[in-house]
Amino acid sequence: MTEKAVIFDLDGTLSDRRHRLHYLEGQKDWKNFFEQMYLDPPIKETFKKLFRHYHNNHKIIILTGRPEEFRDTTINWLKENNVETHMYKMFMRESKNYESDISLKRRIFETKLNRYSVIKAYEDNADLIKLWNEKNIEVEDCSLDL
Ligand SMILES: [Mg+2]
Repeated sequence: MTEKAVIFDLDGTLSDRRHRLHYLEGQKDWKNFFEQMYLDPPIKETFKKLFRHYHNNHKIIILTGRPEEFRDTTINWLKENNVETHMYKMFMRESKNYESDISLKRRIFETKLNRYSVIKAYEDNADLIKLWNEKNIEVEDCSLDL
């Protein structure tokens, strides 16, 4: 039987990045935008759901458009929020990859996640919610701006 899995987006779904969005207004300051991710408050409601799936033996897949360069920062942030490395598998944007989040997530889903039976996705971005709908995956809209 294929393993049941759930996909979690990171920014805006597990992490509240609103405090650093101002770096992308006007002249985009990606450096500070990314460097301050370790300060993101966790979105507790989504974490609760992650723990519930974990305890139900669903594979936790974190699929994010964050660049690979921030893997350690992200792992540490998850750890601070009680999500240990053995609890999930994380797919990130490859170094120097500038494709859109939709194209990135579609590609990773089609090439690397095909051995799982993905039962649900948690996502905050409307276009990505559409992508999971197209793939017939139930999506929970985690947007904080509802
Ligand atoms: Mg997001």
